[in-house]
Amino acid sequence: MHPSIVVKYMSSIHGKGLFASENIEKNTPIWKMTDRVYTIEEIDRQSDEFREHFGIYGFQCGENLFSNPQGICKYANHSCDPNTYWKGSTIICLAKDVAKDEEITYDYSTCDIDIEMTMKCQCGSKNCRNTITNKDYLISSWQHMHGQRLPSHTLKAIKLSRMN
Ligand SMILES: [Zn+2]
Repeated sequence: MHPSIVVKYMSSIHGKGLFASENIEKNTPIWKMTDRVYTIEEIDRQSDEFREHFGIYGFQCGENLFSNPQGICKYANHSCDPNTYWKGSTIICLAKDVAKDEEITYDYSTCDIDIEMTMKCQCGSKNCRNTITNKDYLISSWQHMHGQRLPSHTLKAIKLSRMN
């Protein structure tokens, strides 16, 4: 994680989040995936503790590949108008200049596409989807907003959905 991104406790409702500790420029890579990855079959064989952690913090990072993140990246909250984007499948960059104390967010639907997910969202952005699901990648306005700035498994799923 970029050294100028820190964890802060927000509130009992919002828990923790990631924040910039100084101004950071647009397009700066802020995170690279280094944790090991697991197939869903491998996750099913792990301890209760592991699977509980995965249930809260896990995310999809490839075709039948998942991360159970150990670093502070796990505290990144969702926004329907995130200030980050995917560069390939393993790097997250800033989509805009971020000011000191601004929260760093990403759109959970950009990578979580295969495991059932339904989450109420009150991110407050103009384009808030209100309910976030693992099928949001099928929405054309969403596809338009993210363009190619998605991990490869999501780009492939979009392509497949257009052929069907
Ligand atoms: Zn939202």
